[in-house]
Amino acid sequence: MSIIMKGADVAKSIKEELVKEVEALKEKGITPCLSIIRVGERSDDLSYERGARKRMEMTGIQCRVTALPKDVSQEEFEQTFSRINEDSDVHGILLLRPLPKSLDEGPVRAMIHPNKDVDGMSPVNMAKVFSGDETGFAPCTAQAVMEILQYYGVMPRGKRITILGRSMVVGRPLAMSLLKADGTVTLCHTRTEELAQECNKAQILVAAAGKARMVTEDMVGENAVVIDVGINVDEDGGLCGDVDFEAVKNKAAYISPVPGGVGSVTSSVLAKHVVKSAKGFCKMLAQNSSIW
Ligand code: NAD
Repeated sequence: MSIIMKGADVAKSIKEELVKEVEALKEKGITPCLSIIRVGERSDDLSYERGARKRMEMTGIQCRVTALPKDVSQEEFEQTFSRINEDSDVHGILLLRPLPKSLDEGPVRAMIHPNKDVDGMSPVNMAKVFSGDETGFAPCTAQAVMEILQYYGVMPRGKRITILGRSMVVGRPLAMSLLKADGTVTLCHTRTEELAQECNKAQILVAAAGKARMVTEDMVGENAVVIDVGINVDEDGGLCGDVDFEAVKNKAAYISPVPGGVGSVTSSVLAKHVVKSAKGFCKMLAQNSSIW
């Protein structure tokens, strides 16, 4: 029987540290502030927004939401984004994605101030993650996987690690963070041959494909650590991950559940990133420098 990697426990330990840091910042006259930008009313976005607001509130971080209509023009979207980007009271910006198909994300990715880019979407932060420079921001979900491994004392160093999924928000940045931590990483995707074997040989398996319960027991090695990033709606309308939890939990050494796993840690990482950004801002003020 596996050890269940509970996101709430990881989130609690991150929160305890952050509350102290937020208090210290407030004593210096700085209230960390996250600005969420949402276009439309997608249920995924609304649910992530609710979780993020609650997490910021619990940590003492101010949270503002700017909601734009689904049919907002590219021009108005960029103008709104630019106004928030230039607001010196805002330390972090979270753009809920994917955007409606009518909007191009490229201009705002190029525009966002790298120090406010708390979900790591700018080319600057991507380059930092890919070059192993930890001064930037990795996408929160990828970083949440790293936090879970660390909390449970699972060291990536030297381990065979397979990641299922090569997206720019999860699979690829996570592969880079695990490489930085000296893991031996294999990235799998829809064209991978002998997928079950690639997964089965892993000592640490991360599923981020977005396919309900596609990781079956035979795909998991004895005593593997299994982290499930997937969030899917199953045939009964409930939430489930990419891993067949009930079958795999008897074989893995550690397993993260869905819900209650990675998703619960993502908003804590977001809060951590806002605080990191606010601390950078504070340092900049202390040095009287205009370069933040
Ligand atoms: P995506 O659709 O952008 O990428 C999915 C990746 O999985 C692709 O690289 C694709 O090649 C691969 N893939 C898909 N089906 C496959 C298959 N049958 N075999 C092998 N590879 C396959 O998705 P994403 O944005 O990276 O998200 C992945 C999952 O993680 C989704 O379920 C999403 O809802 C979830 N997610 C969770 C969080 C969180 O906080 N827990 C955050 C972001 C995304």
